[in-house]
Amino acid sequence: PLVLGIESSCDETGVGIVRGTELLAHALSSSMEEHVRFGGIVPEVASRAHLEAMVPTLEQAYAESGVRIQDVDAIAVTSGPGLTGALLVGVAAAKALALAHDKPLYGVNHLAAHVAVDQLEHGRFDGRMAAMLVSGGHTEILLVDDIATDITLLGQTIDDAAGEAFDKVARLLGLPYPGGPHIDRVARDGDGTAYDFPRALTGRDAEKYKYDFSFSGLKSAVARLVQHEERMGRTFNVADVAAAFQDSVCDVLTKKTIAACKDHDVDTLIIGGGVAANARLRHFAEERAAKAGITVRVPRLGLCTDNGAMVAALGAEVVRRGLPPSSLDLPVDSSMPVTQVLAA
Ligand code: ATP
Ligand code: MG
Ligand code: FE
Repeated sequence: PLVLGIESSCDETGVGIVRGTELLAHALSSSMEEHVRFGGIVPEVASRAHLEAMVPTLEQAYAESGVRIQDVDAIAVTSGPGLTGALLVGVAAAKALALAHDKPLYGVNHLAAHVAVDQLEHGRFDGRMAAMLVSGGHTEILLVDDIATDITLLGQTIDDAAGEAFDKVARLLGLPYPGGPHIDRVARDGDGTAYDFPRALTGRDAEKYKYDFSFSGLKSAVARLVQHEERMGRTFNVADVAAAFQDSVCDVLTKKTIAACKDHDVDTLIIGGGVAANARLRHFAEERAAKAGITVRVPRLGLCTDNGAMVAALGAEVVRRGLPPSSLDLPVDSSMPVTQVLAA
């Protein structure tokens, strides 16, 4: 099916067009620059930016693909989870298009879309897989039996998301927002063994929190170290701290995810979300997965971060299975659970 997808859950306004697993358009506009001076996403600013970017981004997608809205089989839109005001802009746009052009409308889950997008890169999924979703707002291990109908949540963060931890620690180290890419870069010259930061929920806690994560204690450990060194009037090696922090996050993420794969007899692991860009994470994942006979699928960076193509990719799967469309009074759901692929 030919599907147009709209994404507006956070700071990216995205419009994608796919035919099945073939990517035809990937148009994107981001309001990140407007949030930088606040050190985090400001919801009101994001909503307004979506409003301004929506029509130009749609037009860019039509131009890129040569597809006209009249020709699409369906319209898919992120209906959650995300910022309510931001989601509303995308959903309103999708409803307007569906109504004006008499097209079926599908409200889909943003997190499932982060997984589905890999099909545009590496072809259709085949059988049971695991997915690790790591972004600014999410850290989850999923068991995916069917991307459109059957997703199980195996574990998640009990406090900060992985990307959030990167952003907070970057701030402690005086690096710009969003901090993930800066830590990644700076850590390349650092020694990850210079500091012994905690690996939360791995020791005895792992019985109760087998596939769960916690990053707030790690962030506090970095904060204490920085404060201590400053109080002592010492300078510390930012590269070493960044590398040691990054090693802790990536070590725990990959160890638990590979364990979840083995425990569930899964031989394919998909990694998605902005933190999938991290070089150390990719290194750990590939090394450990290879040892365990697991194939790692990571979509290219531009498809890992929020975009409209991922929404279209999931929409295409939903259409392919003949699932019923959403109603035109489709609500947004800021905390839509990852196990719910389609809007209620
Ligand atoms: P959501 O959580 O709803 O998907 P988001 O906008 O926070 O939304 P993404 O755009 O997928 O998610 O990812 C952004 C996050 O990824 C930020 O926290 C950023 O610091 C982090 N990130 C990006 N590149 C890297 C990197 N190379 N290393 C570590 N973290 C990174
Ligand atoms: Mg983003
Ligand atoms: Fe996302």
